[in-house]
Amino acid sequence: MSRTVFRNARVFDGQDLLPAGTVVAVEGNRITHADAARFKEKPGDRVYDLTGKTLMPGMFQCHFHTGFGPDAGNPSPYLGLNMPPAYLGMVAAKNAQLALNVGVTSIIGSSNGDLLDVCLKEAILLGLTKGPRVTPCTRELIASGDSADGDNRAWFMGIRNHGLIRRADGPEALRQAIREEVGRGCEIVKISISDGHGSQPIPDYNYYSETEIRAAVEAAHSRKALIRAHCPSRVGIIEAARAGVDIIDHADLIDEEGIEAVLEADAAITPSYLWSERFLGFAESWNYDMGNFPIGNGFPESRARTVARLAAVRRDFEHTASMMPKLRAAGVRMLLGDDYGFAMMPHGDYASEMEVYVKHGVPPIELLRWATANGADALRERGRELGRIGKGKLADLVVVAGDPTQDVSLFRNPDHIPLVLKDGVVEKDLLTHSVVAA
Ligand SMILES: [Zn+2]
Repeated sequence: MSRTVFRNARVFDGQDLLPAGTVVAVEGNRITHADAARFKEKPGDRVYDLTGKTLMPGMFQCHFHTGFGPDAGNPSPYLGLNMPPAYLGMVAAKNAQLALNVGVTSIIGSSNGDLLDVCLKEAILLGLTKGPRVTPCTRELIASGDSADGDNRAWFMGIRNHGLIRRADGPEALRQAIREEVGRGCEIVKISISDGHGSQPIPDYNYYSETEIRAAVEAAHSRKALIRAHCPSRVGIIEAARAGVDIIDHADLIDEEGIEAVLEADAAITPSYLWSERFLGFAESWNYDMGNFPIGNGFPESRARTVARLAAVRRDFEHTASMMPKLRAAGVRMLLGDDYGFAMMPHGDYASEMEVYVKHGVPPIELLRWATANGADALRERGRELGRIGKGKLADLVVVAGDPTQDVSLFRNPDHIPLVLKDGVVEKDLLTHSVVAA
């Protein structure tokens, strides 16, 4: 079998830079060599000289809304969810292509209607479209009265498709919903524990009780599915972690007790600062001569209420940002991924999230760990062979022109990601290589 050989690269293995002179070789869909020991090429080997470039594991986007984002340029709150399922399927395919093109080889779904994640995964495996590995997510399971309840004010959450959200009250209804969704092929369950984050202030109550959270976790894990939770509230984070939720989304009001609980549970967090920053930037500079601010909870809102809401959201985010040094110092597993698909943060622009964290003091090399090894580890057993460069690992690899351990803005330009390998298959190649002669 011919091999693909990468020479003279700066190699980031998912944790750190490997010694200069490291040669990485791929045979079939696995990495068969990744060290600086002598490597003998064979006839037929395809050899890439990566001088000046970086070789790293394919990246993870760990909070992926597959069907969001067909209406770029329009500040509509509907996220395209007012469109029919067939259209959303094409949006999902496009989003998957955009992700792969910037070096994302794995996505972890974070709720979608219409079985979009499951269909996208199958379509990619069948070669109907290109895209990353997909961990398909359920619809977002909510309690009655959740702010995303489609029969509540946010009518657009459920309109004209099979709904981004699925209502399930009580342990029995949650178990049934999870069994059905997992039976359809979903591999991660999403529940909404508490309200708020980014555009809405965070109330001091939760939608789901601790009993319901525990029932949901048990139902998901018993069918070998993972479970994630939209969870901005302080107490919700603690209850989610103690119940065994695998990924805690947003975690805005986390405190020291929450950090302890998350570490104890070996859970992961998607801090998702980009949406908060982009939303606040957009909202706080809104020109009210154009009318009321358009992004709320489904109903028009007076200027006074918007201003009060934004002040509360700003306070929440100041707390969130103040906790970043503590989360890092404690060694919490943090992930990249945010609510891409809004007009102000289109799919494919994943560099922006990294840039926000750099602004909040996170070094680029640490963000590369979030993007690779941490994403794989968040998948527990499913991620065991992903997210790292090492002998025997699956060959999901990305070449970056330059040094992303110093500058994450490189990811902004797809031309700076000239090669993407997924499962040993070349998905993108703007480079030249030589073939060893017989
Ligand atoms: Zn989300």
